[in-house]
Amino acid sequence: MSQRIALVTGGMGGIGSSIAQKLWQEGYKVVVTYNKDGDHDTAQKWQQHQKQQGYDFHIVFCDVTDFESVAMMVNEVENEVGLIQVLVNNAGITQDRTLRKMSVAEWYQVMDANLTSVFNTCRAVIHQMIDSQFGRIINISSINGQKGQIGQCNYAASKAGMHGFTKSLAQEVASKGITVNTISPGYIRTPMTTKMAPEILESIIQQIPVGRLGEPDEVADMVSFLAKDESAFITGANFSLNGGQYLS
Ligand code: NAD
Repeated sequence: MSQRIALVTGGMGGIGSSIAQKLWQEGYKVVVTYNKDGDHDTAQKWQQHQKQQGYDFHIVFCDVTDFESVAMMVNEVENEVGLIQVLVNNAGITQDRTLRKMSVAEWYQVMDANLTSVFNTCRAVIHQMIDSQFGRIINISSINGQKGQIGQCNYAASKAGMHGFTKSLAQEVASKGITVNTISPGYIRTPMTTKMAPEILESIIQQIPVGRLGEPDEVADMVSFLAKDESAFITGANFSLNGGQYLS
C-alpha cells in the first residue's frame, strides 16, 4: 500500500503536534496547517524543530474559517503531496465570556474557527474521498461540548455542533468506505492548561476521577486508532477521553 497522507489542522498546537507526531511514527505523510497566529517564519522554525526531533512534516498555510483558503490549501496539498486520506479537524479557539457580556464577534469567531471550519475542510476533501472509496475524518471536540461550561456558550455550542455534523456526515458516506468520528477530550496537559493558576488547576484535577490531566499523546493514540483500516466499522461515534470527569 502506498504511504497514506494525513492532514492535521492547527497541528502546531499542544494537541495537534502530538497527533502529527503519532501519525508520522505510524508511517503517514503528515501535513500540518498553520494560520496567521503563526506566520510562515514561525511555522518554518516549528518545522525545523520537529525535524531535529526526527519528524519530517509538510507545512501549509490555511485559515480554516475561510472556505476559499481551505479549498486552496487542499488543492496545494493534492498537487504537491497527494490525496488526503486522513483529515483531523483539530484547529480550535476559545473566547470565554458569560452570555450577558459576549459580543457578536466573540460568538462568530468561535463558531467559525471550531464549526464552520469543519464544514470547510470536509467539503474540500469529501469528493475525492468518495471517488477513492476511502477516508477517515476525525473531529476534535471537547468535554465542554457534552456538559456545557460557564462562560462558554459559544465554545460549547460549536463543539456540540461538531458532533451533530459528525453524525450526519457519517451516515451520508458510510457506504463509501469513509468513517467520521468525534473525540471529546477533557482537560489535557497543554500550554493552555499548564499556564493556569496552580490553585485553579488543582481544583480542576480534583474533579477528574482518574486524578490527573490527560496527556496529548492519549488523544493522539485515539486518533491513530480511528484512522486505521481496522476501525472501518466505527463511525458516527463520540469518544470521551476525560478521565471520568463527565460520563455521557
Ligand atoms: P492550541 O491553541 O495549542 O492549538 C490550536 C491550533 O489551532 C493552533 O495551532 C492555532 O494556530 C490553530 N488555529 C486557530 N484558529 C485557526 C484558524 N482560523 N485557521 C487555522 N488554524 C487555526 O490548542 P490545543 O489545546 O492543542 O487544542 C487543540 C484542539 O483540542 C482544539 O480544537 C481544542 O478546542 C480541543 N481541546 C483542547 C483541550 C485542552 O485541554 N487543551 C480540551 C478539549 C478540547
